[in-house]
Amino acid sequence: MPCRQPCRYFRVIRQRSDRLYDIIIKDGHVIDPASNINEKADVAIENGRIARVQKDIDSTDARAVYPVPGKYIVPGLIDAHCHPVGDFTGHAVPADEAGVDAGVLLVNDAGSSGSANFHVLRSLLRNSRTSVSYFINFASCGLIRLPEIASVHDFNVEQLKEVVGAAGGMIRGVKIRAMEAVSRIDMDVVALAKKTAEELRLPLMIHIGEFRQRKDNDPFDVYSRNVVSLLGKGDIISHYMSWRPGGMVLEDGTIFPELEQAKKRGVILDCSHGRNNFSLKVAQTLLDNGFPPDIITTDLSSLGREHVQSLAVTMSKFLAMGMPLKEVIAAVTINAANALSLSETWGSLKVGRSANITILDKVDGNYRFFDGSAGNSITGNALLEPRLIFVEGKPASCRSFYHLPQETLS
Ligand SMILES: [Zn+2]
Repeated sequence: MPCRQPCRYFRVIRQRSDRLYDIIIKDGHVIDPASNINEKADVAIENGRIARVQKDIDSTDARAVYPVPGKYIVPGLIDAHCHPVGDFTGHAVPADEAGVDAGVLLVNDAGSSGSANFHVLRSLLRNSRTSVSYFINFASCGLIRLPEIASVHDFNVEQLKEVVGAAGGMIRGVKIRAMEAVSRIDMDVVALAKKTAEELRLPLMIHIGEFRQRKDNDPFDVYSRNVVSLLGKGDIISHYMSWRPGGMVLEDGTIFPELEQAKKRGVILDCSHGRNNFSLKVAQTLLDNGFPPDIITTDLSSLGREHVQSLAVTMSKFLAMGMPLKEVIAAVTINAANALSLSETWGSLKVGRSANITILDKVDGNYRFFDGSAGNSITGNALLEPRLIFVEGKPASCRSFYHLPQETLS
């Protein structure tokens, strides 16, 4: 069991109770890309809100001081694509494992449920300690049965619109997996999903990448390239670092032009790690050619747990591939908040916001990172280890879940 008390790593200095602030987080390095802050500073919290971000705030002004020398103070991390749904599907992880226990304060469920069972998922997650938002699957039953869309009877536009309308803003987007089963239906289902999302004024997130091996001149690549061309500003391409059929990069490093065109239109690039559609080799090719992820996400499910491990481990992989720390932090804070249209409340340390904060340690060492069924590994010289979070000003411990996968030990 992870320690929920912050006592293990942090010596908390408690003081008289008639002070200006409840808490000062002291002597850390603040990275808040939304406010363009990247420097040593302290953060003061009062009544669960951020009261000040400044160098050298007087310690005697707070009831409790958390000294974090050498550590990073960043906005509460956001995983904009995961499956934090406990027992809802057979392959889900508990919300708090993907969330607060791993230093992540907001998890976005990327289409585990659809219009027929969104209410079940929502009630299952009601008591999680992690904040949850949702993308609703275009498939009525979400991901509880695969393939989730194999005929025109597997979706219902009117019901979907009703459920989104009744959800009071909890649903932040529409998700569809552009799989071969969808491509075989005698109508353009992804175009219908795009039209529906547009009418609801929500972004559309598409999954690209099949699960089988890729053939030469794979016909499914053509389908996927057409699907990517449907997307506009604010829509999301998930698994754009896939090496499978339908991915945007070929084995020889060729990048399909539809990816660059989509990026120019303002489509959001989502690495969505997962087990089956993320390749460290493709990721390196894309990073080297100017296609870093706009959002870094885990796509965490029980299937991917062994290799994905957590958002912090996924961030560490991008650090190991040469993405600058400030960009890595942006990809899990303000960029993720923008992708969910939640940047008014999440993704920054602006004064007056809820004090949702993650304290990250960058631990030097020699780490091996793996990508899952693509079978690649890389080494990195730093691990981002979340040590402490503040959820609306309340502290709790957390960790990265970094480990060597079982297969590497035998
Ligand atoms: Zn997913």
